[in-house]
Amino acid sequence: MPVGIVFGVLLAAAAVGPAAASTFVFVPPTQSTSQPPACKLGNVTTQLASYADWSGALVDWQFRVPASYAPRDLVPVSRAGIAGSGLIRSLVIPDLAAMTKAARSAGAPIAIESAYRSYSTQASTFNTWVNELGYERAILGSARAGHSEHQLGVAIDFKTPGAGPPWHLGGYDWATTRAGAWMVKNAWKFGFIMSYPRGRTSQVCYGYEPWHYRYFGRAQAAAIHASGETSRAWLWQQEHRVVAVPGAPVSVGPRP
Ligand SMILES: [Zn+2]
Repeated sequence: MPVGIVFGVLLAAAAVGPAAASTFVFVPPTQSTSQPPACKLGNVTTQLASYADWSGALVDWQFRVPASYAPRDLVPVSRAGIAGSGLIRSLVIPDLAAMTKAARSAGAPIAIESAYRSYSTQASTFNTWVNELGYERAILGSARAGHSEHQLGVAIDFKTPGAGPPWHLGGYDWATTRAGAWMVKNAWKFGFIMSYPRGRTSQVCYGYEPWHYRYFGRAQAAAIHASGETSRAWLWQQEHRVVAVPGAPVSVGPRP
């Protein structure tokens, strides 16, 4: 139930006044039903923009981190024993190492195509796509500077070791490769969630990106996975959670 309705009920009950002093209003438990805003380009600084809030920061078409956002604890991804190059926040390394090892043991080795991208790198990345595809198509597959999860230092584009970029498969879906399929099934167990799943473009704003995963830590990733929501919707709901005591009656005036 939207907050407005709850308050509306309370106000209506309160307005009845002394004549109905025994009015007893039961307000059903409220749950967060808020969905993220429709995909609309904007430039709003996201609510949780400190480095400590890495797992809660929502960046999308509208919300962004400042240009100066550059985590201080970036380290080479090679520390996780994974092929490929780039930087990632050090807090990602233990689970990335465990996932790399597990994927290799399962015969589905993974590698890194792209990890941390600075504001300026993202600006040139986006411009490259705009030049290649035009703005209307580029915006569905690439983020403007400040709006990329890669700038958070906790997002990774994975690929198959020795292969080219996972988006250059000529219409082939990386999630159907051995490595990509293993990730679909197992990445969340190691704290990683696919940010832009198939068929969710209207909710996540970007097209399907089976290679792009964001690290949330194991507990939060398990919660997102269990919710069935996209990470964008889940993060939005955490920021706009309606707190209520389940089943608690709200009394207006003395009990009858
Ligand atoms: Zn990506």
